[in-house]
This record gives sequence, C-alpha cells and structure tokens, in this order.
Amino acid sequence: MTITIRKTKKSDSLKEIVEQLSGADLSICLQCKKCSGGCPVGKQTLSRPSEIMRRLHLNAGNELLESDIIWTCVSCETCSARCPMGIEVAAIIDALRKLALERKASKQKGNVPLFNKAFLKTVEIFGRTYEIAMIAAYKLGTGKFMSDTEKFPTMLKKGKISLIPSLNGDRKIVRRIFKKTKENKGAKV
Ligand code: SF4
Ligand code: SF4
Repeated sequence: MTITIRKTKKSDSLKEIVEQLSGADLSICLQCKKCSGGCPVGKQTLSRPSEIMRRLHLNAGNELLESDIIWTCVSCETCSARCPMGIEVAAIIDALRKLALERKASKQKGNVPLFNKAFLKTVEIFGRTYEIAMIAAYKLGTGKFMSDTEKFPTMLKKGKISLIPSLNGDRKIVRRIFKKTKENKGAKV
C-alpha cells in the first residue's frame, strides 16, 4: 500500500502529543507490520495501525484524525500484544480518538460513531455493557429497526444476550469515571 503524507509544519505534528498521551515511543517502530497483521478490523479499514505509526513518525498533522481506524478500532489490544518492540499501539489509537474529539475532526461516514456513542452510554448508565439497551439506542439512531436481527433469537436462546442488565458492575464508580472524564477533558459521550 502507498502511504501519502501531506507536508506538515513540524509545529502541527501530532507525534509529540500522541507520545505524551499514550506513553509510547514512536521512534522505535520497526515497521514490521505485525500490528496490522493481527488487527481484526484492518481488512475493513482504509488505514491500518502500522500505517498510522509511520505517518505519525513522519510528523503527520490533524489530517490523521480523520483516519477511519480511529473509530473502527475495537480496542482489542492485539496490536500491542503482537508488537515486538512492546509499543502500546492501542493506546496510540486511543490518543488519536481523544484528539479527534477535542479538535472536532470531521465525523466518520457510516454508523461507527453512533455505535460508539450507544456503547458508551449504556456502560455509563449500567456500569458495564448491556447489549439490549445498546442495540436499541443504536437502532433508534439508524432508524433501521429490523436489519441484522436474524441471529437475535438464537443468541437469546443460547444466553449470549440477556434481557435484563447484569448487576455485577459497580455503577457508582463507572459513573464517577465518566463524570470526571467529562469534567477534565470536555469529552462528549
Ligand atoms: S508491530 Fe510494533 S514495530 Fe511492528 S509496525 Fe506495528 S508498531 Fe511498529
Ligand atoms: S486495538 Fe484496535 S488497532 Fe489494535 S488490533 Fe485491536 S482493533 Fe486493531
């Protein structure tokens, strides 16, 4: 894949701020692409983790915040686990997601931001994921109530999805985390 780098003034570079936020040292990346090879969403995205690393290293600026992987990443941390240099690649993607929100980077096309919002809202309310509420919020947002529902009865039957929320999560602590994050970072979830 050809990587196109727009000419960026050093002062506009995201490299240092991403290093500060993630605690990762971008300069030790070997470009071995093991992170991209293991990424479960890499085949669906235009940009891949190793490409993000390379572009950051070459002083890419705010245009990087419009990369689709920022919102498609499922935070599985496979990239971090596979990196032979011990780079926390997932933390780098997290840092870019945070910057994208702060700097109001243009929204991704499609429903990925909507899904993220529905997921975070249910974690905030219930203290952990609650799939039924998340699916309902997501479907309300898309207006497509009956799409992708064919496996729902089987999942319900096999206990993969519960009709009632789990009471195991510590709602108070989770809500406090969300409150603090909003106060400190001005993030909207
Ligand atoms: S696995 Fe690590 S060293 Fe290899 S390209 Fe990805 S970040 Fe760089
Ligand atoms: S954490 Fe994100 S970027 Fe890393 S492997 Fe998982 S989905 Fe891909």
